[in-house]
Amino acid sequence: MSAPLHLDERQRAMLAEMGVRVWSPVTARAPQAPPAPQAQAAVPAAPAPLARAVVVPAAVAFAPAAPAGAMPVSVLAPPRVSAAAAPERAAHIAQLPWAQLQSAVSECRACGLCQKRQQAVFGVGPAPAAEPLDVLLVGEGPGEQEDLRGEPFVGKAGELLDLILQASGLQRGHGVFITNAVKCRPPANRNPEPEEMAQCAPFLAAQIAALRPRIVVAMGRFAVQATLGSSAPIGQLRGQLHRLQHDGRTPVVVTYHPAYLLRQPQDKARAWADWCLALDALDEARGAATPSA
Ligand code: SF4
Repeated sequence: MSAPLHLDERQRAMLAEMGVRVWSPVTARAPQAPPAPQAQAAVPAAPAPLARAVVVPAAVAFAPAAPAGAMPVSVLAPPRVSAAAAPERAAHIAQLPWAQLQSAVSECRACGLCQKRQQAVFGVGPAPAAEPLDVLLVGEGPGEQEDLRGEPFVGKAGELLDLILQASGLQRGHGVFITNAVKCRPPANRNPEPEEMAQCAPFLAAQIAALRPRIVVAMGRFAVQATLGSSAPIGQLRGQLHRLQHDGRTPVVVTYHPAYLLRQPQDKARAWADWCLALDALDEARGAATPSA
């Protein structure tokens, strides 16, 4: 784990020359309140408060990133995809308290993905609190390791995600909740079917309503479908802010799935630009929530 770095102007100019974007929050990041205990996974110790600047660690890698600037906001009117779950079932799930929501996911047999799973993977991170969650990360579906361990983003893709979070001054479990569009593993890591996405959608909607994230990061095309209702390619959606289809308000940043980045490392620079956009949006959301003196 590399520590955040203090950089002077000369170092920053050198990094800029190398094509490395250094993310600088408007204000130093304050540590989050300790998360409530979670059944899914042990939460590591809280990260140290972030310094004024963070450099992407070498393992995340980088190349010339997209230029920083004013955050563009999507004017995309995405097409809705997939059928909806039965309204009565969705309404029932929407009113479940958090603990019962976890149980409902564990026991769910609403689609065929229940048949070969070891367990449903609810997600990992702090329970709903009085303060909104900072960041909700949405992936696609559990893989083999996630299915075995009951936690999203473990294995190589999870390691890369943890490095990205570290470079961003974030840490899983601390102001960050990680979940997937579908909670059960598609066999042989196939794509989830529209019907499976639809049946699982009320669980994600309930998680969003309970956690009230300041921003959402959608990683991969099925996460995009679940949060924006769009089937447009990632390359067309990334680089701008979207609004969560559930409330039309919460900023959503679209980026590549870490598993994709392991296969296509040349896109890591674009992914890092997306994370910088997400951090800018998070700072803005925090600032909007802070009453002026
Ligand atoms: S994927 Fe979702 S809807 Fe399907 S069985 Fe698992 S929890 Fe239920």
